[in-house]
Amino acid sequence: MYEDKTSKVYAAYAKDELLRLSSSSGGVFSLLAEQILSQGGVVYGVALSSDCKSAEFIRVDQLRELFKLRGSKYLQAETGGTYDQVRADLEAGLKVLFSGVGCQINGLKLFLQRNYDNLFCVDVICHGVPSPVLWRKYVEHMQKQNEARLVLVNFRCKDKSWQDFGMKELDENKKEVYISKDADPFMQMFLRNYSLRPSCYECTAKK
Ligand SMILES: Cc1cc2nc3c(=O)[nH]c(=O)nc-3n(C[C@H](O)[C@H](O)[C@H](O)COP(=O)(O)OP(=O)(O)OC[C@H]3O[C@@H](n4cnc5c(N)ncnc54)[C@H](O)[C@@H]3O)c2cc1C
Ligand code: SF4
Repeated sequence: MYEDKTSKVYAAYAKDELLRLSSSSGGVFSLLAEQILSQGGVVYGVALSSDCKSAEFIRVDQLRELFKLRGSKYLQAETGGTYDQVRADLEAGLKVLFSGVGCQINGLKLFLQRNYDNLFCVDVICHGVPSPVLWRKYVEHMQKQNEARLVLVNFRCKDKSWQDFGMKELDENKKEVYISKDADPFMQMFLRNYSLRPSCYECTAKK
């Protein structure tokens, strides 16, 4: 039987249209992160690595760095030594916003083994995450095809429309490529659930 443990539900989106366009959904993540930063806190979330071949958790303590966390990167992110860093910030009394998919939030809570009043967790809605190896191979393929290194990727570019979104890639020669989600092989594999991790089919974070 379904048991509703939710105490309150709110729906919201950012009023700033530019912020919504540069976010994957309604931009609420950025609004929450701005609040924490304005109070001298720190924000943890997922950024693309500088070579674009992987996604990783990073710590942001400046508003001007927040853009790195904005937008979904549709591949499994490496947590690295982040949980240790989060604990150190919490013990130092800083307000910490930690954002990621549900299993990463659960992992952090298991790691910490206690509650902190200064910890704010934001888990994004997640139906599953693609293999990071597949993403690396996709980047290598694109780089070979274009004979240039990728320097920036927007997985959910809405320049055409919100419905007809696509992948926007910028290379080292400042050449921009837009590939509709219907034509991009990586997005097709993600959206059709061909490339999700086996663990996502036994996800306990959503139970
Ligand atoms: C793997 C994945 C699966 C998703 N599946 C769904 C879905 O099934 N249905 C749906 O409605 N939305 C899905 N989303 C979109 C996600 O729920 C929205 O990004 C979220 O609603 C936040 O939107 P925003 O506009 O507030 O912030 P945005 O600025 O778009 O998102 C930024 C946030 O996403 C986090 N993030 C980005 N990439 C990753 C990553 N690889 N791993 C963990 N966290 C990441 C950042 O840390 C930050 O908290 C998925 C996102 C990801 C990364
Ligand atoms: S295990 Fe669950 S929360 Fe984690 S990536 Fe897979 S579907 Fe998302």
